[in-house]
Amino acid sequence: MKAKTQVAKISTKGALVPALAPTAIPLKDRRLNFGGKWEYAPSPEDAKSYPIALRHELFINGKFVVPAAGTYFPSINPATEQQLTEIAEANAADVDAAVKAARRAYDRVWGKMPARERGKYLYRIARIIQEKARELAVLETIDGGKPIKESRDVDLPLVAAHFFYYAGWADKLKYAFPGKTPRPLGVAGQIIPWNFPLLMAAWKLAPALACGNTVVLKPAETTSITALRLAQIFQEAGLPEGVVNIVTGAGATGAAIVNHPDINKIAFTGSTEVGKLIARSMAGTGKHLTLELGGKAANIIFEDAPLDQAVEGVIAGIYFNQGHVCCAGSRLLVQEGVYARVVKKLRDRIQTLRVGNPLDKNTDIGAINSAGQLARIRELVQSGLDEGATLQQTQCALPARGFWYPPSFLTGVTHAHRVAQEEIFGPVLSVMTFRTPEEALERANNTPYGLSAGIWTDKGSKIFKMAAKLNAGVIWANCYNKFDPASPFGGYKESGFGREGGLPGLAAYCRLD
Ligand code: NAP
Ligand code: MG
Repeated sequence: MKAKTQVAKISTKGALVPALAPTAIPLKDRRLNFGGKWEYAPSPEDAKSYPIALRHELFINGKFVVPAAGTYFPSINPATEQQLTEIAEANAADVDAAVKAARRAYDRVWGKMPARERGKYLYRIARIIQEKARELAVLETIDGGKPIKESRDVDLPLVAAHFFYYAGWADKLKYAFPGKTPRPLGVAGQIIPWNFPLLMAAWKLAPALACGNTVVLKPAETTSITALRLAQIFQEAGLPEGVVNIVTGAGATGAAIVNHPDINKIAFTGSTEVGKLIARSMAGTGKHLTLELGGKAANIIFEDAPLDQAVEGVIAGIYFNQGHVCCAGSRLLVQEGVYARVVKKLRDRIQTLRVGNPLDKNTDIGAINSAGQLARIRELVQSGLDEGATLQQTQCALPARGFWYPPSFLTGVTHAHRVAQEEIFGPVLSVMTFRTPEEALERANNTPYGLSAGIWTDKGSKIFKMAAKLNAGVIWANCYNKFDPASPFGGYKESGFGREGGLPGLAAYCRLD
């Protein structure tokens, strides 16, 4: 089949041209024509109320300090490409200072503190996060590109909920693990990605601190601002110095944490490629390790599913956070009898998704996090077209500056295509079909990953039968991308090992022997 070439291109001036140039709707007409519906009036969040310092230092031993080498890198707003600030780049000497501070805090204060006192700090941090939730959501959106309605209504409530949840466990560890005497591991090195900067920090920090560990945390290079704002919250909460240290930088900073001899545990969330590197370099060191890596989840729609609900779930599964979600339902498996109806509903529904200013509360799809990520999405979609797939995209004009990719899906995909096997980590869905539940299972499990899956059916028995055989750490039934601090999250196969959230997330930071 001849591939359509409807991919957004860079014009000679470097600006993005509309994804579907021939049929794109001029901006001035969008109020009337957008998806056949009335467009909302603009409603941007007031970013000026939350100024961003021009420079951000490292947070070591309770203080903001200048990096040893005096080097900084820029952090930009991906929706405008404007520089927001410059961020300190930590080298091995800075990481060593952070680990030493964490060790001192562990030996002298945090490791010895009565558990109920540790819990009080965590409750205090959770409450301050709630108080400052609007500011943190705005900063998260400006720095990372995600729509404000997601950072405000999903990320921040979950960040606070994680601190509350693990604050509650701090003095109940013996009840969490009956018959055991849980003890902290020591100093934990935590390395997180850019897709949920604050939420990933909360997933890692809250259980580590609740169990009595101290931490050296590295945020991703493109999204360090909110982690450093969190450091100010730790100061405000009176958290003893050195209990949490935040070192910013690129991959080399992460590697310096991984290779530091005085680290007891590494918790890493990121790509499978870097996860494998870390696992290799830690082999034989005796350090504890948990890895939360990539995914290529299948959302499976059976013929008996309520199709409108299923399509909504598929939309939430792939276009949430521009598809920058490790557990995104990036493959859609549709039972043959309803394939044509599902594809038509999908095609209609994506036309109503609003792409644009992430700070506007009506925006559904914000900016792609970086130029590099946008290039990766384009390259993979092009590979799908080259291999014979057909592309459907939301017909909309994309802003001239910034990094954008319209909500898209590919049909005519086979399981051998790269778009069916590799993580796209963008708003692109690969649609395939199946006939029987057995075929759906075989196809769903046919990737190197095993992080998550979704099942859409009217039959409870089918849900249980499928869930028992899907190789995925998280399985959603008749819903997708629902999170709760009490519910463990993690993968099989190349999606990593270990769990975050719930009791398993607590066990990952305790010695239980
Ligand atoms: P990444 O390149 O692996 O980066 C993750 C983190 O590791 C960043 O802080 C990165 O720093 C750092 N890093 C890079 N090279 C390193 C090295 N050699 N040693 C130690 N640290 C190093 O991943 P990403 O592109 O930022 O994130 C996207 C990936 O994360 C996707 O594959 C996604 O599926 C996965 N993810 C998984 C989960 C989960 O829970 N399973 C959750 C979210 C994301 P820099 O930013 O400076 O490069
Ligand atoms: Mg940024």
